[in-house]
Formats: sequence, C-alpha cells, structure tokens
Amino acid sequence: MKKVVKFGGSSLASAEQFAKVRDIILADAERRFVVPSAPGKRFPEDTKVTDMLYECYHMAESGQDFHRLLSEIAARYQEIIEGLSLSLSLKAEFETIEKNFNEKAGENYAASRGEYLNSIIMAAYLDFQFVDAAEVIRFTEEGDFDAELTNRILRERLETADHAVIPGFYGAYGDGRIKTFSRGGSDITGSIVARAVKADVYENWTDVSGFLIADPRIIEEPEGIDTITYRELRELSYMGASVLHEDAIFPVRREGIPINIRNTNRPDDAGTWIVESTCQKSKYVITGIAGKKGFCSVNIEKAMMNSEIGFGRKVLQAFEDSGISFEHVPSGIDTMTVFVHQDEFADKEQKVVSAIHRLADPDSVDIEADLALVAVVGRGMKSTRGTAGRIFSALAHANVNVKMIDQGSSELNIIIGVANEDFEAAIKAIYTIFVIAQL
Ligand code: ASP
Repeated sequence: MKKVVKFGGSSLASAEQFAKVRDIILADAERRFVVPSAPGKRFPEDTKVTDMLYECYHMAESGQDFHRLLSEIAARYQEIIEGLSLSLSLKAEFETIEKNFNEKAGENYAASRGEYLNSIIMAAYLDFQFVDAAEVIRFTEEGDFDAELTNRILRERLETADHAVIPGFYGAYGDGRIKTFSRGGSDITGSIVARAVKADVYENWTDVSGFLIADPRIIEEPEGIDTITYRELRELSYMGASVLHEDAIFPVRREGIPINIRNTNRPDDAGTWIVESTCQKSKYVITGIAGKKGFCSVNIEKAMMNSEIGFGRKVLQAFEDSGISFEHVPSGIDTMTVFVHQDEFADKEQKVVSAIHRLADPDSVDIEADLALVAVVGRGMKSTRGTAGRIFSALAHANVNVKMIDQGSSELNIIIGVANEDFEAAIKAIYTIFVIAQL
C-alpha cells in the first residue's frame, strides 16, 4: 500500500505545524510520498510566503531594493528550521535566489521557491529523499501541463524511492525554465504524484475536516460531507465551493484513486472521501449546496422559435464572437435564455445584443442583471422522488422568487436562479429542509 500525502500552507506555516505533520506521516508507514505547499499564514493577518515572493520579485523586476523583503522571507524559513532544531542552512539557496532575482529569472521561478525551500526542510526533517519538481513535472512549450511525459518521468524516478518529498505547485519546460500551476496548485502536484506511483489513496491535508454541505459564511456550523463523488465535487466546486483545486481531480480520477481530505489540526477526524462511485448513501438526499452571485440573463424571444432549425446556434454564435462563455441555457417554446457572468458581459452587452439581432432576427432581447445561481447537488436525488418539490416549497415559504430552473438529465443537480439579494435566504431554506429537518 502506498499513500501520497499533500500538506497545505497552513499545515506548514510554523515549526509547530511541521511537528504535527511529521507525527501524521510517521503514524502510518504507507505515507511514503509527501507533497508540501509553501508556508501559509500563521495567524489571520499574516502573509503567505508565496505572496511575499511575488511581491519581492516584482520589486526586483522594477529595479527597487528587494533585499529587505527577501530577508523577511528567509527569516520565515529560519524560524521553522530553528524551531525544529535542524542543522540545515538555506544560506546558499538564498544567495542563488538573490542572484536569479537580479537576473530576472521570472515570476514563476520566484513563486516556486516557496514550495522548493519548504520541501528541502521537510525532507531533512523526515530524512526522506528530496526530488525537485523541476526534474519530474513537465510543461509543453505552449505552457500546458504535459500529463503523459510527466507520468513517465515521475514513475521512473519514484520507482526506486522508498520515501520522497516532492515540492508542490511547479514543474519546468523541457529546457529547465520553471513554470507554476495556477494558485493553490500544490493540490494538482499531489494528484499527479498519486497517479504516477499508483497510490492507494491521495490524502490532502488542510485546515478543515473536509467539505461542508454548505458555505459556513452563510450557514452556521454546517454538517460535513463524508463521501462525495468526483462528479458531485465538480458540480459543487464549479459553483464556488473551494477546498481543493479543480484540476486536482483529473490525474487521480483516471486511475480510480480516492482522495481523502483531512485536517492537520484534527488528525483523528475521518474527513471527506472523494471517490469515483459509491454504494454509500449520503446521509441526506442532497450532498451539498453551493452557488454564486453576479450573473446576468439574456432572454431572447421569437415567435415559432421551436420550429426554426439553427436558431440556438445563431444566438450562441453572437456570444462566441464576443469571447463570452455561457453558463446555462434554459429554453421554452418561443424563448431561450442565456446565463452569463455579469462582469464578463457588461462591457460587451450591446455588441452581443446587436449580433443576436443580426444573426438570429428575434422579436425581442431583454437583459436581467444581478442574479444568483444556486446548485443543489446530490447523487441521492436520482432515486428519490419529490426533491424538486421540496426545494421549491422551501423557497416559496422563505419568500424567494425562483427565476430559473435547470435540471440536467444526470439528475445529479438542480440549478436555481434567484435575485442576488435572495441568495443567502435561498441557501438557508434549502439547507433547513434537507438537513436540519432531518436531524
Ligand atoms: N503556494 C501556492 C499558493 O499559495 C500553491 C499552493 O499552496 O498550493 O497558491
């Protein structure tokens, strides 16, 4: 059995956190491959090392004196090294970083040093082998992650390693130049490593005990989710629930490796399991509720639309021509509605409207702004009658007007459009009917 364990920034922000992480790793001999993030915040007002590195590099790039900030970053690592009583010095590493900053090695290089240095410390602390991500995680010349090449290189490199620490967040082009993933990308590295070593589990250790059914900023102390499928998670994270980087799902998913989200500060909590498929019923009919504000609907009407072949294509062409992606397209007999992100759409709205008129010749086009979408997600909905009925009666009781309903044929989620100002009330009403009423 092999486990890949990734630790987030808050799990590695101080020597005290490092000690917890070591206890977790040593408690299970299968935890053989470790992927650290850069040190995160030690307290709420603190700054993540990655953010300090970006700022420091921008100072270097624009010719400002960046040395003070660089020594503050060095001090963050020194504090950890001393707190763990390690006989390790990063002096030479910081000299190289300073030199490379002066030579303008690039923002990606700069940001990657957070994970790189933290992994050197972690490898020394655990007495595991350090494997630089620049040698094993590859990007194509176009800057895309090269999944197959990486998998080959990484698999070969780790075949002979009993234990290894591989920094998260970055890799390199064929010529060695560093490239990072998008922010929060250490989650992706963990998943890539899990795929390469064919791990039995990918454990992702963070500062929460897994996913919650709803956003804790809206629902006070929401219940946790024990098990969620990849597809459910995709729906929820698309709609704003964030614990894991979205791109972290793909590498493990293709190998059927489950992800277990765990809490470094409460290692005994079981956390959330993210799996391909499960016969385990979720505790409630729904698995989670998520949503986002800031949508706009473009309502297009045309008599006899239903019999006009190609009408939908022409309408969507108008959006495509302006480079706007659409979110949902519910339609009626003579109406079609296109949901878009308001901030993307605002500048281009008149261009899109005139293109719709030109291409599709509708009777009218009407725009409604300040809408929110709420997604109710759950594999349990498929086999349960009355879910939609319960949602809508709960919303009616809460005085929330439903503007749009969209249920995909997968029966995995129901998406509801409401006014921005009804967003919180809608989520509370749905949570209450499915969770609180069942307790
Ligand atoms: N350190 C990087 C960030 O802050 C990547 C990560 O933590 O996953 O985005």
